[in-house]
Amino acid sequence: MEDGILEPIMQKILIVEDEPDVAELVAFNLNRSGYTAIIAHDGLSGLDTAWAEEPDLILLDLMLPGKDGFSVFKELRRDTRTSRTPVIMLTARAQTEDRIQGLEAGADDYLTKPFSPKELILRVQSVLRRSEKTPGKVTFDCGPLRFDKNSLKFFLANQEVDLTATEFKLLLYLSERAGTPQTRHDLLRHVWGYSDDVHSRTLDTHMKRVRKKLGDQAGMVETVRGVGYCLRQPDQC
Ligand code: CA
Repeated sequence: MEDGILEPIMQKILIVEDEPDVAELVAFNLNRSGYTAIIAHDGLSGLDTAWAEEPDLILLDLMLPGKDGFSVFKELRRDTRTSRTPVIMLTARAQTEDRIQGLEAGADDYLTKPFSPKELILRVQSVLRRSEKTPGKVTFDCGPLRFDKNSLKFFLANQEVDLTATEFKLLLYLSERAGTPQTRHDLLRHVWGYSDDVHSRTLDTHMKRVRKKLGDQAGMVETVRGVGYCLRQPDQC
């Protein structure tokens, strides 16, 4: 590779949103913050664009004509080109159930409309930070758990288990502090970049999914009542 000053690589963000005004406004704010925004106006073209462009993050509206946001999301997760791409779902204020369903399905975060440009950028930065590759030591082992920090691959007793970027970061954070209870506040601050009552629910939803994916090792993640969560210290960690 050639030495010298490299152009910063602009991170690419795909917006799947059928309302042109909203899409334009979001794209404008992303571009202004140094991202490259691409817009798709319905679910099908959203999928095509996602697979052709392989964006760093996808903002996915749930209420779309034709193929709805949830169906789009499932297809994104099924395809290797986008199975690990962070997704922030866009929901209308009243659709609390959608939001919960979205998080349970594996979305990294959600934004409730109407949202401010500032809130949008903060969430995008936070989700992208979570999915960034970590320099330094590449793997971390904790008993039967193995984390490859560069590829974000996770192995349970040598079997690869698919974790989203958020689940990966959450479980890694607990594993690196195994045996020491972590407060809800610290987990939210570290993994989501902010902490408030609304997101308390988000933490529990993600933890529930992590436990499910740990299968018969689910008991390694202990709930510490009134505090938060703790990863039980295995023999080698
Ligand atoms: Ca819509």
